[in-house]
Amino acid sequence: MGIQRILIANRGEIALRIHRAAQEMGIETVAVHSTADADAMHVRMADHAVCIGPPPAGESYLNIANIISAAEVSHADAIHPGYGFLSENAKFAEIVEAHDIAWIGPKPEHIRTMGDKVEAKRTAGKLGLPLVPGSDGAVSDYDEAKRIAAEIGYPVIIKAASGGGGRGMKVCNSEDQIETLMKQAGSEAKAAFGDATVYIEKYLGNPRHIEFQVFGDGRGNAVHLGERDCSLQRRHQKVLEEAPSPVITPEERDRMGGIVSKAMSDMGYRGAGTIEFLWENGEFYFIEMNTRLQVEHPVTEMITGIDLVREQIRIAEGRDLSVTQDEITFTGHAIECRINAEDPWTFAPSPGTVTYYHAAGGMHVRVDSGLYAGYRIPPYYDSMIAKLIVYGRNRERCLMRLRRALGEMVVEGVKTNIPLHEELIEQPDVQSGDYSIKWLEEWLATRGK
Ligand code: ADP
Repeated sequence: MGIQRILIANRGEIALRIHRAAQEMGIETVAVHSTADADAMHVRMADHAVCIGPPPAGESYLNIANIISAAEVSHADAIHPGYGFLSENAKFAEIVEAHDIAWIGPKPEHIRTMGDKVEAKRTAGKLGLPLVPGSDGAVSDYDEAKRIAAEIGYPVIIKAASGGGGRGMKVCNSEDQIETLMKQAGSEAKAAFGDATVYIEKYLGNPRHIEFQVFGDGRGNAVHLGERDCSLQRRHQKVLEEAPSPVITPEERDRMGGIVSKAMSDMGYRGAGTIEFLWENGEFYFIEMNTRLQVEHPVTEMITGIDLVREQIRIAEGRDLSVTQDEITFTGHAIECRINAEDPWTFAPSPGTVTYYHAAGGMHVRVDSGLYAGYRIPPYYDSMIAKLIVYGRNRERCLMRLRRALGEMVVEGVKTNIPLHEELIEQPDVQSGDYSIKWLEEWLATRGK
């Protein structure tokens, strides 16, 4: 029997996004919220709502016991975790399944494997994905680290096995820095993730970040939905994403897509996943896999016409993938701007009351947001308040429409990074698609000088 009622264990735009897909499928939704989010749009739109605790995420959106209780009292038969919070917590996925509630996500063992970056790299290597040259697993011995670094060549990057959000990474330029930086990376990782394990890989000088969207049915069938280019980053956080990548040819997409979908098929992967690569001089290097829906998934939806959340729900119901690889086609170009409540140039968060709000509209313009005039943006969570996603027949048309749409967006009462996006898309390198993961920070450093 199909899913009847989904508890959405998240907040903000992604909770709304999931609610919308469920509603179109005739499925009821249960919103959960902290006391700080009682007036949030995801709570207003859902069929049912349950308060799960006080504002700090640790006591509400990360509170497993309260979320499971909310699912039981509201008779939810499935849980969708969104992204962030508990979405990549294998233990939570196991608890959900142990309560006979459908988990709209990958198999817990795959979440666990991919959550440990050393394990993830080993698995990716076995599945035939190209890796960044580096240590074969964790490294704790300084002499061994020096030997590996000499072999792959400096600079190298020391990374935390449990790392995430761009934290716990140290770039090392020479042998005499190895010991100090390994100690630093280890103790920072221990403090942030409770695990001091580190590994070493070659530090790529000027790569792009290119990731592939995949889907599996858990029974050995898998497809890819092409790539997204997320190279415009600040502090390893994505700012603007696009699909397709300006540097990937259809032949290369087919070749690499074939490799990643074969890997997912061999693994028996279930649900949505993203395989992240760095790309330099025409070569792909696996860095990690995210076992969940991504913030930037709408750009893939725009160019394929496939509703990724609907697909996730169908898979959790045990149904087949709704499309075969041959039926998936890529048309036009899509760009997403992450709109944050923050100062556009200092990046200082700007929570507070939104006094006026007007969303962009018109042909091929999509705004995913829970904003409304009078909404008070709480200071406790992520500063992303909206995603503006624009489609065009080609990249040039997409950029022209994006300029028009950014001009229509009005958010008053708090600062936003809309001015940053407006200036960004006027830069010749962005217009020609000629940028790497370093580009945005370099531009910010020289801007206005
Ligand atoms: P996290 O899980 O913390 O996001 P990732 O492994 O995905 O860590 O890396 C995040 C970002 O760090 C990448 O998008 C890239 O900008 C940079 N990075 C990671 N590994 C390397 C590398 N070997 N060389 C150069 N940059 C890297």
